[in-house]
Amino acid sequence: DPVLKLEAVERAYEEAGHTLEVLRGADLSLKPGEMVALVAPSGAGKSTLLHTAGLLERPDGGEVYLSGQPCGSLSDRERTARRRNDIGYVYQFHHLLPEFSALENVMIPQMIRGLARREAETRARELLDYMRIGPRAAHRPAELSGGEQQRVAIARAVANAPLVLLADEPTGNLDPETSSYVFEALEALVRQSGLAALFATHNHTLARRMDRIVTMDEGRLVPFAAA
Ligand code: ADP
Ligand code: ADP
Repeated sequence: DPVLKLEAVERAYEEAGHTLEVLRGADLSLKPGEMVALVAPSGAGKSTLLHTAGLLERPDGGEVYLSGQPCGSLSDRERTARRRNDIGYVYQFHHLLPEFSALENVMIPQMIRGLARREAETRARELLDYMRIGPRAAHRPAELSGGEQQRVAIARAVANAPLVLLADEPTGNLDPETSSYVFEALEALVRQSGLAALFATHNHTLARRMDRIVTMDEGRLVPFAAA
C-alpha cells in the first residue's frame, strides 16, 4: 500500500486578478522504502507539490492520503499533528537552530513531541552516528561544514521516525562530492527505515540513483524520459 498518495491534486494561486493553475490533476504514489526524484524547471510547481504533499498547504481539489487516510477532512490541528508525526522535511538550506549543538538540534523535535530528554538523546546520537557525524555532535551549526550541517538537518528530519521524507534540493548548496556523500547517508537511512522519500532536485546524477524520476508537465506528474 502506498504510504503517500496524491490523487488528482489541484492548486491554483490568485495573482493580480488572474488565476495561476500550478497543479492540475497531479497523481503520485510512494511505497515504503521508495525514493523518487522530482526533476522539473524552476516555477513548474515543485515546492507547491511538496507543500501540498507535506500537509502545509491544502489542495483546492483532489486528495492527499497518508498511509491510506484521506487528509482533506482533517482539521488544521489534526493536519499539524500528522505533519509533525509522519512527515520529515529537509530544505536546501538547513535551518538548524544556531544557538544549539548538532545533538540538541536532533533532540528538540523529539522533545517537542513529548519524548524524555534521555530517550531523545539516545536516538539523536544513533542518528548522528548513522549519518557519520557522531564525533561532531557537540558542535554548533556554524562550526560544521555545509555537508555536515545538511547531515544534521537530515538526522533532525527523521528523528521522529516519519513515514515520509520530503526534500527540496537537499544537496543544492553542496559541491558534487559532498552531495554524493550526503546522498549515500540519506539513501542508507531510507532503505533501512522503510520510509518513503520524495526529493526535488536539479542534480541529474543523484536523480538517476533513485528508484524513479518524475517531472511536471502542465501541472501533472509524469515519468521523466531522459532526452
Ligand atoms: P518550483 O518549486 O518548481 O520553482 P513553485 O511551486 O515554487 O515552483 O511555484 C510554481 C508557480 O506558482 C510559480 O509561478 C510561482 O510564482 C507561483 N506561486 C508559488 N507560490 C505562490 C503563492 N503563494 N502565491 C502566488 N503564486 C505562487
Ligand atoms: P510550527 O512548528 O510553528 O508549527 P510549521 O507549521 O511551519 O511550524 O512547521 C511544522 C513542521 O513542519 C516543522 O518541523 C517544519 O520543519 C515542517 N515542515 C515545513 N515545511 C514542510 C513541508 N512542506 N512539508 C512537511 N513538513 C514541513
